[in-house]
Amino acid sequence: MKINGRCYCGQVKFTFDGEPRTAVQCYCRECQYISGGNPNAAMVLPKANLTFTQGEPKTFARTDLETPRTRLFCGNCGTSLATLSPRFPDAMIMKVGTFDDPSIFKPTVAQYLKDKQPFHHVDAEIQQFETTPGAK
Ligand SMILES: [Zn+2]
Ligand SMILES: [Zn+2]
Repeated sequence: MKINGRCYCGQVKFTFDGEPRTAVQCYCRECQYISGGNPNAAMVLPKANLTFTQGEPKTFARTDLETPRTRLFCGNCGTSLATLSPRFPDAMIMKVGTFDDPSIFKPTVAQYLKDKQPFHHVDAEIQQFETTPGAK
């Protein structure tokens, strides 16, 4: 599968060519900050198959968490592009909203439902987890 995408202002662009691993909706409290309130929609992609073709995302990781994720974002417009998880060092977890065609996203997993808000909706058809599936 080929995926092209960019941040809101267009300074950062990327391309992916390979097999996505999973499509997840993450309801964790941290993602709520990044997404603006709703669950994050993301695809777990093999890092080796993804290239930033223009610009370089800035990174941020919290220092007060035991295993912080590293958040990649555009330093110009602030669009959240991706997350790196210490649990999956060879994966790039890309935000679906940055894809040229976000409609390719077919989530199969809803995770961190322990942090779900009353206004969130969960698709009953997909696998649900209080934290993570635990699988690689
Ligand atoms: Zn930007
Ligand atoms: Zn999350």
